[in-house]
Amino acid sequence: MRRKFLRRSGLLLAALLLLLFGGLLVGRVRLAGLPALRSGPPVEVTLQVAGQPVRVIAVQTGTVSIKGCHHDGCLPEWAPYPLRFAAILADPSLGARMPIWSYVIVHPEGVHVVDAGATPSYNDDSSWAPERVTGQLVRSFIRLDVTAEEALPGRLLALGIGPAEVRAIVLTHQHIDHTGAVASFPEADIWTTGAEEDAARSIGAAPWRWREPTTRIRRVDEEGGARDGLPWKGVALTSDGRLEALHTPGHTPGSVTVRLRADQGELWFVGDTSFRAVDVSPEAATAGIHTDVSAVRALQTWLRARPPPRAFLPAHDERVPETLVDAGS
Ligand SMILES: [Zn+2]
Repeated sequence: MRRKFLRRSGLLLAALLLLLFGGLLVGRVRLAGLPALRSGPPVEVTLQVAGQPVRVIAVQTGTVSIKGCHHDGCLPEWAPYPLRFAAILADPSLGARMPIWSYVIVHPEGVHVVDAGATPSYNDDSSWAPERVTGQLVRSFIRLDVTAEEALPGRLLALGIGPAEVRAIVLTHQHIDHTGAVASFPEADIWTTGAEEDAARSIGAAPWRWREPTTRIRRVDEEGGARDGLPWKGVALTSDGRLEALHTPGHTPGSVTVRLRADQGELWFVGDTSFRAVDVSPEAATAGIHTDVSAVRALQTWLRARPPPRAFLPAHDERVPETLVDAGS
C-alpha cells in the first residue's frame, strides 16, 4: 500500500516538475495581461445580537486572481500538499478574478474586523527586497489588484471608522491577501493562532511585510478553550460570547473561522476554507492549496450537518452582497 502510494506520488512529481518551469513562465505572462476591475461599494446590514444592534459590513479590498489548480485542486485530494502546491505552480491557466472581502462587525463593545485584505505594496518590486525569491514565487501564482483607496484603512475611514476604533482584527489565515493592512492598526489585537505562526514560512506568510515587533498578536489556540457544542478550541471576542474566533485547521494549519450568533441566526465567516458559500460542502470541488484537505472536508461536513446558518461568508465569494443583504432581511 505504502509502496503504491510512493510510486503514484513519484510519477505525479516527475510530471509536475516537467511542467513547472513552463507553467511559471506562462502563468506570469497571463497574470500580467489581466484588465483591472475595481471594488464595489461596501454592503451593510444591521442585525440584533442579544437585543442590541450590530452592524455587519462587507468591504471589498480589490481582487485576487488565482490558477485553476489553486481554485479547484487538479490532483486527487489524497495527494500530499507539496505535490498539490507544485501542480499550482505548474498550471498555466489563470482562473477568474475573485473579490477580496474584509468584514467589519460594529459591536457595542468595539469594532471587530475579519481579515485585513490586500494592499498595493504587493505589486511593488522593491517591497519584496528582503525576500526576493519568496516575492517572485508568490506573485507567480497569485495576482492582486488593489489601489490605495481600496485598501482597508481608506475604506474604513470612508465609513467613519478610524484605525484607533478597531478593537481587533481576526486573521482567518496569514496568506498575503488577508494580512495586507494589519500594520495600519497598531492598537488593535491581531488574532491568529500559534499553529499559524509556526507554519508562517511554509505557507508563504511573509510576516515581515505586515507586522512590527509591537504588533499585538493574540493566539486563538493558545489562549482559547473548548466552546459549547463545537469541536474546535476558540475564544470569545465579546463578553456575551456571541462573537467567537475558532481554530479550524485545514486551509492552513492555523486557520481561524469566526462565528457571530445574531438573534436572527448564525453568520459564519469561513475565510478561504471554501472560496464561495456554495462550496461549503463536502461534495463541492475544493481548493488545491489547502494544507490538509481532509480537515477541510471534516469542517464542511460538520457545518452542513447542522441546521443551515443565516449565512456563510467566505473571503472571495462574488455573491457576498446578496448573501449579506438576505441575512439582514
Ligand atoms: Zn484568500
